[in-house]
Amino acid sequence: MSAAGFHGSKYCWMNGSVMPTGEALVSPMESIHLGIFEGIKAYVMGDVLGKGDLNIFGWEQHIERLWRSAAVNGIAMPYTREELLEAVRACIIRNDYDKNTYIQPRLWPKAEKPSESHVVVPVWPFDTLLGKDNPSFSKERRFMVSSWRRISSDALPPQAKSWANYANSMHAIREAKRCGYDNAVFLDSRGFVSEGTLACLMMVRDGKVITPPVTASILESVTRGCFIEFIPDLGYPVEVRDVTRVELYASDEAFLCGTGGECTPITSIDDIKLGTKYPGSITTEIAAYYSEILAGNIKKYKNWLTPV
Ligand code: PMP
Repeated sequence: MSAAGFHGSKYCWMNGSVMPTGEALVSPMESIHLGIFEGIKAYVMGDVLGKGDLNIFGWEQHIERLWRSAAVNGIAMPYTREELLEAVRACIIRNDYDKNTYIQPRLWPKAEKPSESHVVVPVWPFDTLLGKDNPSFSKERRFMVSSWRRISSDALPPQAKSWANYANSMHAIREAKRCGYDNAVFLDSRGFVSEGTLACLMMVRDGKVITPPVTASILESVTRGCFIEFIPDLGYPVEVRDVTRVELYASDEAFLCGTGGECTPITSIDDIKLGTKYPGSITTEIAAYYSEILAGNIKKYKNWLTPV
């Protein structure tokens, strides 16, 4: 691996120390597929697209979920929350990043002693979709309703962020690409709308924002939690309730929310265009406010940010 490593990750943190990412090697006998992880982002303060000091978004919420995922999957967590935060900080500082940075703590049971875990924290820079006039935001995104159902609680725990769950997403993404779509929306085992393949889903109808509940087999998204909190500030009530496929077809706007995709508008579902304008005005307003929160420009939501 080159010095810059995968995705431009020069250094990572592994089992207690920062090391070059290319030297963070494990045995091929390791059970990485049984692991869990988190996807977290640190944004530049004051200007989401610029350079400068970094804030980690939703650190406490992500770390709570990591601990819950570990408990649900019976994986030992050998560090404290504070130690993990210091590991992330040390890693970002060693990489000398002063731009938006993705952080992905990973844990898996040691092959030789499953009661103990390996812990690795790779970090790498990313480009945001957000920001005024960013062409990535308004790119068209044609979605289909997947023929694959979202994993349900009687098969795998959907609320835990484990690698195994992503095999489900991979099948839906591959089907969507095969059928000529950009991505897919999952229904749950009952036939109600669940979520996207890598993000939660929200739809807009008559000035209300509606999103499926945790019982619709979604991953309990950190971003969704934040959106539910701040969207009413913009004057739009949020309803958390089951959504039918037909309601989604008939929505005025729909978008995904998640750490990776941030706030991603959807153009159509099964070739049915949503609303009359793309991206929808409420989605655009929500995305703009979210980028201000991430940049630390909204005082009320500074508690969502942890300085690096
Ligand atoms: N659902 C799935 C399946 C995901 O992979 C993600 C991304 N982590 C989300 C929802 C959004 O979760 P979060 O906002 O915590 O990133």
